[in-house]
Amino acid sequence: MVRALGVRKSFGDLEVLRGIDLDVAPGQVVCVVGPSGSGKSTFLRCLNHLETLQAGRIWVDGDLVGYEERNGQLHVLPEKRLRAQRAKIGMVFQRFHLFPHKTALDNVMEGPSAVRGMSGADARELAGDLLDRVGMSDRSHHYPAQLSGGQQQRVAIARALAMSPKVMLFDEPTSALDPELVGEVLGVMKDLAADGMTMVVVTHEMGFAREVGHDFVFMDDGVVVERGTPADVLGAPQHERTAAFLSKVL
Ligand code: ATP
Ligand code: MG
Repeated sequence: MVRALGVRKSFGDLEVLRGIDLDVAPGQVVCVVGPSGSGKSTFLRCLNHLETLQAGRIWVDGDLVGYEERNGQLHVLPEKRLRAQRAKIGMVFQRFHLFPHKTALDNVMEGPSAVRGMSGADARELAGDLLDRVGMSDRSHHYPAQLSGGQQQRVAIARALAMSPKVMLFDEPTSALDPELVGEVLGVMKDLAADGMTMVVVTHEMGFAREVGHDFVFMDDGVVVERGTPADVLGAPQHERTAAFLSKVL
C-alpha cells in the first residue's frame, strides 16, 4: 500500500533523510519511533508530498506520489493531481488543526462536500456516522474551543476518515494531550487498525506500538536503524542506538 525507496530530503545543507526504505502492506500498522530531530515528521510529510524529495520514490496505492515521469525525468505533478493523491492519504498531526469557526460536524463535512463534491445531505450523514465511530456524536454541534484536546483529536481523525483514505498517517497524535486524554485517542486508533486501515504512526506510546503495531521501525539521524515486530525490537533490540534510545523511554 505504501512503498518508499531511497528517500532523501535536505533542507539547505542539512540532510534530514538519508535514504529511507519502507514497505507497508494493506491493513498493516507500522509504528515509527526515534529521537527528536531524527526525521520522522519530515518522512511522513514526504509520504503525501508536503515536501519535495532530493532522491528516491514513494508510491501510495500504486501511485507515484508527487511526481510523474516524462522523458526519463521526474516532474512535480500539477496541483490538481497532487490534491487527488492527497485525498487518498489521511493525516493527523500532533496539534489538532480543526477549523475554529466550524462545529465538529462541519469540520468533518468540509472535505466530502468541498473536495469530493458530495451533496450536503450525504456529507452530513457521512460526518454523523464518522463522529459516531470516534465516540463524538453527542458533541457534533460543539466548536473546537468547546472540546477537550482528546475530543478535538478524535474529530480530527473523523475528518481525515471522511475522505475515505487508503492510508492514515499519524504524527504523534497524543503527545500534546493531557495524560488522561491519551487513552481515548489511542482507543479510536486501535479500532481503526482492527477495521483493517493501513496506518503509519509516529508515536512515543510504546504500549500502543506493542499492542497494535505489526511492525516497529526505529529511526535515527535520517535512516531506518532497525525494523521488526514490536515484540522483537522492544524485547531485544539488535542495534546499540535502538537499545540506548529504548532504555530512556521504556
Ligand atoms: P520530533 O520528535 O522532535 O518531532 P522529528 O523526528 O519529527 O522530531 P523532523 O521534524 O522531521 O524530526 O526534523 C528533522 C530535522 O529537520 C530537524 O533537524 C529539523 O530541524 C529539520 N527540519 C525540519 N523541517 C525543516 C524545515 N522546513 N526547514 C529546515 N529544517 C527543517
Ligand atoms: Mg516530529
